[in-house]
Amino acid sequence: MNSAPLVLSVQHFCIHDGPGVRSVVFVKGCPLRCSWCQNPESYSAEAQLGFKAHVCIGCRSCVQACPHEAREAPGLPAQDRCRRCFACVQACPAGALVRYGEVRTVDEVLRDLRPEFPLMRDSGGGVTLSGGEPTMQPDFCAELAGRLRADGLHVAMETCGQFALDRVDALLCCLDLVLFDLKLHHVEALREHCASTSSRIRSNLVTLARRAGSQRGPCVWPRLPLVPGITDTRENLRAWAHLLREIGLSRMTLVPHHALGASKRIWLGLPPGPARRSATFADMASARDALAQEGVIAFEPGEEDW
Ligand code: SF4
Ligand code: SF4
Repeated sequence: MNSAPLVLSVQHFCIHDGPGVRSVVFVKGCPLRCSWCQNPESYSAEAQLGFKAHVCIGCRSCVQACPHEAREAPGLPAQDRCRRCFACVQACPAGALVRYGEVRTVDEVLRDLRPEFPLMRDSGGGVTLSGGEPTMQPDFCAELAGRLRADGLHVAMETCGQFALDRVDALLCCLDLVLFDLKLHHVEALREHCASTSSRIRSNLVTLARRAGSQRGPCVWPRLPLVPGITDTRENLRAWAHLLREIGLSRMTLVPHHALGASKRIWLGLPPGPARRSATFADMASARDALAQEGVIAFEPGEEDW
């Protein structure tokens, strides 16, 4: 099988997404809509157009290039007429139009990753599958992960945790490490800030941690995006810490939120999200203390003792 989903990008020489030096493969599509998301271009599992008004030179090449009469002016096209052929992106001389998502086969992605294999091996690194949400592309990710493992590479996956476990069993079998995002423990807060009412996130965390504990699945490493006033409340941190201890996990990463992503929402034509400030050194220190009091050691990205 050589399934081909939409790949958002492949980033090389990453050091915050698992042990060693890694390449990260980002696929499109996510079941959550976190209000602080810095990558709204990964929400949809379909290819999308973005328009950066600040670099548009007004040449109207995009209007002339559109074979479907979907645009009368520069900018985002009429959604009901746009066929996502991306002829306008090709025609734009200024880079004002951006295509998010390319169909790429496993072979193509492997060709891109292969030159980095020696560095990955020497550094104890590997490849991390990310998104979006990799479990929304289980066949592609399982095939890619399986072939990387067959080449002796360490393979990790970043996940928001919201997936049907039986659909991702084959993928999980090909992984060494799952970087499991904790967000909001309370279902009502998860609904308010991430547009999800699923209890699967917690149950999947429990199942994966138990499997890891009995050597029947990949290691699990929890990570929590520290969003001031949202995820860093005492109640949220304490609730996650209690659950982690119950399932035998005592270490995690706190990922400080940076207030980016607002321009990407504008480029995609999405309404502005709520203003969120970046996490400060004091926010991080306070969250670490709160977790330590509950018996959980929190690292910052890059500090982890994998
Ligand atoms: S993606 Fe294709 S159909 Fe849509 S506006 Fe661009 S050229 Fe027209
Ligand atoms: S082709 Fe690009 S630079 Fe020219 S008007 Fe269209 S978006 Fe602007």
